[in-house]
Amino acid sequence: GQSFHINFLPYLDLVDFFKAKKASQPKVLLRTLLTEHLPKSVVLELQNLIWADLADTAIGNLSDDKLEQIAKRLHAFEVKPSGTEGYRTAEVTLGGVDTTEVSSKTMESKKQKGLYFVGEVLDVSGHLGGFNFQWAWASAHAASQYV
Ligand SMILES: Cc1cc2nc3c(=O)[nH]c(=O)nc-3n(C[C@H](O)[C@H](O)[C@H](O)COP(=O)(O)OP(=O)(O)OC[C@H]3O[C@@H](n4cnc5c(N)ncnc54)[C@H](O)[C@@H]3O)c2cc1C
Repeated sequence: GQSFHINFLPYLDLVDFFKAKKASQPKVLLRTLLTEHLPKSVVLELQNLIWADLADTAIGNLSDDKLEQIAKRLHAFEVKPSGTEGYRTAEVTLGGVDTTEVSSKTMESKKQKGLYFVGEVLDVSGHLGGFNFQWAWASAHAASQYV
């Protein structure tokens, strides 16, 4: 339910950039200017979302207010995820057996002798990219030294 913001051009002050271009190249389109800094496909999507009605208006014909509004959105583009794809594409689960109830050396339960927990069943979740495999294998290796 929370939104986050993307700054598409963190190293460029777009208000200054647009104003300078408005003075030096008044006939140029915003999308042409922005493709100097971003992939064309991204610029076209942003154009559809932010200034579709002015897509073919030269920068010289855009008011400073409008340019500031567009710059503001490009520096803080709001994205609010509407949901997840659920279990169909899920790759890792949160939650599981509390790690404080398991020995971090042997992976044996502190409550039940002879019961070991490793991998995904524990409340350990890594970022995608191998950390969950690493955890599953490393914890299994640790337990295997003691089982
Ligand atoms: C689509 C997908 C992509 C993923 N990609 C990545 C990735 O790129 N990098 C990464 O680090 N992690 C990735 N993960 C997560 C990673 O696969 C898991 O964290 C890891 O495999 C967990 O290993 P595990 O041995 O703890 O559990 P599992 O691999 O889930 O093994 C549990 C096993 O227990 C069996 N089992 C369940 N119930 C019973 C029962 N009652 N009796 C007997 N057997 C039972 C299951 O059939 C299963 O074989 C991905 C997961 C998914 C689903």
